[in-house]
Amino acid sequence: MGEAVAGTVGERFRELYGAEPEGVWAAPGRVNLIGEHTDYNDGFVMPFALPHQAVAAVSRRDDGILRLHSADVDADPVELRVADLAPGSDKSWTAYPSGVLWALREAGHELTGADVHLASTVPSGAGLSSSAALEVVLALAMNDLYALGLRGWQLARLCQRAENVYVGAPVGIMDQTASACCEAGHALFLDTRDLSQRQIPFDLAAEGMRLLVVDTRVKHSHSEGEYGKRRAGCEKGAALLGVDALRDVPYADLDAALERLGDEEEVRRLVRHVVTEDERVERVVALLESGDTRAIGAVLVEGHASLRDDFRISCPELDLVVDTALASGALGARMTGGGFGGSAIVLVEAAGVDAVTKAVEDAFAAAGLKAPRVFEAVPSAGARRLV
Ligand code: ADP
Ligand code: MG
Repeated sequence: MGEAVAGTVGERFRELYGAEPEGVWAAPGRVNLIGEHTDYNDGFVMPFALPHQAVAAVSRRDDGILRLHSADVDADPVELRVADLAPGSDKSWTAYPSGVLWALREAGHELTGADVHLASTVPSGAGLSSSAALEVVLALAMNDLYALGLRGWQLARLCQRAENVYVGAPVGIMDQTASACCEAGHALFLDTRDLSQRQIPFDLAAEGMRLLVVDTRVKHSHSEGEYGKRRAGCEKGAALLGVDALRDVPYADLDAALERLGDEEEVRRLVRHVVTEDERVERVVALLESGDTRAIGAVLVEGHASLRDDFRISCPELDLVVDTALASGALGARMTGGGFGGSAIVLVEAAGVDAVTKAVEDAFAAAGLKAPRVFEAVPSAGARRLV
């Protein structure tokens, strides 16, 4: 895999820029198995990489110019000067890749320009991190071409800075680290405080199970504002409890912590989600490492209830996927990603895939909703050079 798509992307690069690319790189989207809204609380997450990926053909330039082109955007290459890149100056898709060059430059790396053509199979805006795929593929290409010697987690930090400061989206560190560091056949157990990580074998097919992603294809418009409110609420909770981040509240002390929050009902709910969600990540890791894979289904269901009832970021479409999947025999299901739309994941026996898929599609049709996009997610490789 990879060679064919690298060929197509390289071909288009030649047509656009009249020369061979120096190389072709790929970076995947991700889905998060468990650990939602914990990354900005210094907690645990457990994403794995999708086979869907952004692929970029790239060459260096020596005149300070950055040219960017996407196969998925109907326009000529955009031409920018590396020296002129400034946060907030770009409201289009090119802010993601140019933000990466800005972040590298800010970190003291001298870059003299690049020609870039990219194409991505990561669905955009579905909560599967098409934006991180775009950033990480560029960061890795720059790292190789300019021999910067940065590690995957360092590239992830720079990509996060690009998205936070240059694009202006207050995202945590999970998506970029997943895209940069995941390995095929594994989920990534990541401590977002220090970015220490462990690859956890996660081969559902070998055990007769499948993980489906159901993209609801809805995105409720208030999602960004609500994300900001949840972050602010979590910070308030940490401040009231006198800790740096909610990650520092031990699960064993949760009841006492909730007691101390008194009548701050909203904050109590947020704190309860974050602290129990960190515990759920640790439980899933333990279950997978002990070979009790089917038992993670129940933990996913608990996680969904917590996101729906305590964190309050689900929506009718996500709940419909989860309820329908469970009613038609799935082992577990939960919303994944930021919430208010996007995607859900469903853990199911291989023999049950068709029944669950049909039940979800029928339920969406009966509710008068646009047909959801359902696909199987196989834990795939993280960012790498293809050619
Ligand atoms: P998500 O990361 O969940 O897919 P985001 O809103 O964070 O959603 O990122 C989506 C944005 O990323 C798009 O609006 C677009 O600007 C950019 N993007 C994603 N894929 C591509 C692509 N193939 N070509 C150009 N821009 C893309
Ligand atoms: Mg994104």
